Amino acid sequence: NAEIAFAGRSNVGKSSLLNKLFGIKIAKISSNPGKTRSINFYSVNNKGYLVDLPGYGFANVSKEEKKKWAELLEDYFVNRYSLQMIFLLIDHRHEPQKKDLEMIQWLRGLEIPFMIVLTKLDKVKKSERQKKLRIIQSELSKYGDYLYFPVSAKTGEGIGALKNEISKFLK
Ligand code: GDP
Repeated sequence: NAEIAFAGRSNVGKSSLLNKLFGIKIAKISSNPGKTRSINFYSVNNKGYLVDLPGYGFANVSKEEKKKWAELLEDYFVNRYSLQMIFLLIDHRHEPQKKDLEMIQWLRGLEIPFMIVLTKLDKVKKSERQKKLRIIQSELSKYGDYLYFPVSAKTGEGIGALKNEISKFLK
């Protein structure tokens, strides 16, 4: 059965987005970014699974936490032939942060395909969206060519386009 996964820094808006997309309410276990959580699977209309990867707090957690987190994800990624795509969430307001870049490099190293979802679009002024998007794209173009989906879980903007993309993987 196909799987698609969602990843992002703590507080990037992952649970809000999954709720908007799939009607799934995800309990936040901790707002402490260093807290290692488990990986949760949700069945989507018998068409596949969505996988909620624990928010990463890469840069400023202890070596021990980082190792635990990486092991948890590596265990998941090894032999995951049914994993179709990762949607990597990045806050649209800011340039990608160290943790985001680390995650991108890590996924690239493991040769796992991913797309970028830019969250909290409603918090970016309409007049600044194009510019912001271009800055993020040019920053990440060092690592590869990706599809970008600016979305707002609050207003629903961009959700249709993202849903459409997701449905290609869950048939
Ligand atoms: P998570 O830690 O990645 O699961 O993030 P949450 O979904 O819990 O969101 C973190 C905070 O950002 C909460 O206060 C949300 O209300 C807020 N938030 C999430 N998505 C959006 C959005 O699209 N627009 C706005 N304005 N706020 C959002």
